[in-house]
Amino acid sequence: MRVIDHIKQAKDTLISFEILPPLKGKGINAIYNHLDPLMEFKPAYINVTYHRSEHIFKKKPDNSFEKVVIRKRPGTEAICASIMNKYNVDTVPHLICGGFSVQDTEDALLTLSYLGIDNVLVLRGDAAKNETSFIPEPGGHKYALDLLKQVIDLNNGVYLEEELKGTSSTTFCTGVAGYPEKHFEAPNMQTDLINLKKKVDAGADYIVTQMFFDNKKFFAFEKACREAGITVPVIPGLKPITSTKQLTIIPRTFYVDIPTDLSAEILKCKKDEDVEKVGTEWLLTQSKELKKAGVPVLHYYTLGKPHVVANVVREL
Ligand code: FAD
Repeated sequence: MRVIDHIKQAKDTLISFEILPPLKGKGINAIYNHLDPLMEFKPAYINVTYHRSEHIFKKKPDNSFEKVVIRKRPGTEAICASIMNKYNVDTVPHLICGGFSVQDTEDALLTLSYLGIDNVLVLRGDAAKNETSFIPEPGGHKYALDLLKQVIDLNNGVYLEEELKGTSSTTFCTGVAGYPEKHFEAPNMQTDLINLKKKVDAGADYIVTQMFFDNKKFFAFEKACREAGITVPVIPGLKPITSTKQLTIIPRTFYVDIPTDLSAEILKCKKDEDVEKVGTEWLLTQSKELKKAGVPVLHYYTLGKPHVVANVVREL
């Protein structure tokens, strides 16, 4: 079922989870072990992230280096199908521009459609690890907007090979990313919102946000979206803080602030188990306030900490 239909039919705030494919070498049971404790909360859907390949330099026996391409977390599409099969729950694979030509994208979308997957989260993707800024694949998309337009085209039966006759249309529900604290490359919030509105005007069904730790930023972002004429659901993305080192890693990686009250409490902790308690309490308070405000879905980035998210959702 499409995410937007889940939202339309819901009488209360829904729950959704986001997971990463396992590192190559770990089996599908790594995913099931992660999800098993979360399934009692009946998530409306589960997102599975997409990780592009990276170039690394591998040392050879003669001490020279060879450039090799590796993918550490392959399998997004198949994991989505396995989750649907095992738990009978809808899934949302992430689809990115990076590393894909338009032909690769069309094939990936057809694979998802054949697997019975109704949803995609349409993203640009970050720069490859060895690049300082995002470089599109030759013959690929530069912005999420362009990728979204391709998905919408396929939903209208428009394929890359225009001479195809009697084509069947896909029915993907499309989500796009939004940034309550601005995307790091955007010169200002206003420009970022204009670019977000272009995605909605092109047909995005809903927005899911980057993580944030201060609900005021989410509410201000949602208000700014409405003032900009964006009417689709805005879904908050939430993540627990569970270690002291995340105080620097999270702002550096995701370009979001940690509120002073939260960082002060974390810095008082002697061990990470104590940080986890502070992070759980903070996430619960955030979740309760957002639910009370009537957000359509609480979307949790579970990233290796399903028990923390489970403790929060149980209390809601
Ligand atoms: P875009 O919407 O293309 O925006 C990127 C930047 O370009 C913004 O600054 C925007 O303002 C600007 N821009 C957009 N359109 C134009 C235009 N026409 N002209 C000029 N500027 C423009 N990354 C992954 O690799 N895999 C994942 O699975 C993944 N999942 C994510 C899930 C969520 C909920 C979020 C919030 C992010 C996720 N990311 C993921 C990270 C994401 O790919 C990065 O944040 C990326 O840098 C931007 O992606 P976007 O889709 O927001 O890009």
